[in-house]
Amino acid sequence: MLDRIAAAAREAGRSPGDVTLVAVSKQQPDDRIDAMLAAGQRVFGENRVQEAIGRWSGRRSDVELRLIGPLQTNKVREAVALFDVIETLDREKLARALAAEFARSGRSPRLYVQVNTGEEPQKAGVAPGETDAFVALCRDLGLRIDGLMCIPPEDEAPERHFRMLATIAARNGLIGLSMGMSADYETAVALGATSVRVGSALFGGRLPRQG
Ligand SMILES: *Cc1c(COP(=O)(O)O)cnc(C)c1O
Repeated sequence: MLDRIAAAAREAGRSPGDVTLVAVSKQQPDDRIDAMLAAGQRVFGENRVQEAIGRWSGRRSDVELRLIGPLQTNKVREAVALFDVIETLDREKLARALAAEFARSGRSPRLYVQVNTGEEPQKAGVAPGETDAFVALCRDLGLRIDGLMCIPPEDEAPERHFRMLATIAARNGLIGLSMGMSADYETAVALGATSVRVGSALFGGRLPRQG
């Protein structure tokens, strides 16, 4: 996996060190995660706060944990306590809750704004046309935004979405681009991803959720 990411980066004239592999450990059995840790992987992604608390709250201090799923405002306190990066900031109410919790707790995870590049009604994320204003609002609230994240529509080629995310990031002075999953991470690296979120291609198939 790291070999293929590095090759895709070099091919695009980028440095392999500029791309972080986020190992998406949601719904994976502990033994596979242990094996990944033993192999040296240190950055992991989870999409549910509760599941992540169960798995990672006593984690070793050199593990970086990223929230890549929706965040409800009633989970903000727990999320800020647990995660190093929150990639799914997508609405004003959440931005305000995060700003308040950062002030209260003294902790401030890095933040990415999620953009709904396909403008899919069922999907989270800020509409592309509203992203500049939303980033400005977050900055007004005192939040530092590190980058943008997207999940392209499943039934479309991802290139247009990755390019759109890179364009919006560039005009807002944002460096981080969280894009690319198991099926398209090499394409994402070619188009500028600074992190790719890979689950099944790395760990194998996920277990069904309980309940
Ligand atoms: C589950 C998930 C992934 C990883 O998906 P794979 O196709 O298994 O690589 C990446 N990003 C998000 C937001 C996810 O929820």
